[in-house]
Amino acid sequence: MFITFEGIDGSGKSTQMGHLKEALEREGARVEVFRDPGGPEVSERVRDILLNPDYKVDSVTELLLFSAARSQLVAEKLLPALEGGAVVILDRFFDSTTAYQGYGRQSVPLEEIAYLNRIASHKRTPDLTIYMKVPLGEAKKRIAKKQKDRMEQAGDDFFQKVITGFDEMAASHERFFTIDAMESEEEVKKKIWKQVQTHFSQ
Ligand code: ATP
Ligand code: C5P
Repeated sequence: MFITFEGIDGSGKSTQMGHLKEALEREGARVEVFRDPGGPEVSERVRDILLNPDYKVDSVTELLLFSAARSQLVAEKLLPALEGGAVVILDRFFDSTTAYQGYGRQSVPLEEIAYLNRIASHKRTPDLTIYMKVPLGEAKKRIAKKQKDRMEQAGDDFFQKVITGFDEMAASHERFFTIDAMESEEEVKKKIWKQVQTHFSQ
């Protein structure tokens, strides 16, 4: 079982991933949680480069670095965990690249991003993608005190395009489940758990 969480920063992904992990473990599942970019040492080092506000990163380079970090995560952590029978919960995956590097940066056409996403993910697609949908203003309020990484220094225009990207993907792929992330933490938690149970009992 492979579940991804998507949405802009401050939408509540980490909070809800923690709740879902707990709920699955209560049911006896072995759960592994990773983040993209991140996971293995190689990917964490690429993440440091990508998020360092002191670096100027060309948009195509950025796309390739996110993809490189992902490929290593898939090969070294994700595929072995799934093959070993774990439930994997992943904080972002290639949908973030479509949204941020595709819709946001518009570095290369979306069909080229789709092609690269297939390569970087070793053709592994999530079984279920939970999209935490929240207005930009609310997300910004929630993370106002957090130190901004390189990507978070972009303007509102950029993030509105990213949101459009997630909205369009959610509307056109069946594996997406959209959550109104403006609701309370408890309400969101209940809805996600219900969806996970329904999805995997079919
Ligand atoms: P990032 O990608 O920046 O790590 P995130 O999407 O993982 O963000 P969280 O870290 O889970 O988001 O949440 C951001 C902040 O919003 C935290 O302070 C968290 O406690 C708060 N928060 C999470 N869910 C809700 C909610 N439903 N209502 C109000 N605040 C929330
Ligand atoms: O969600 P997380 O904090 O791990 O993401 C790190 C940063 O990288 C965030 O600012 C996020 O918006 C950005 N990001 C991105 N493109 C991706 C994945 C994450 O710009 N493909």
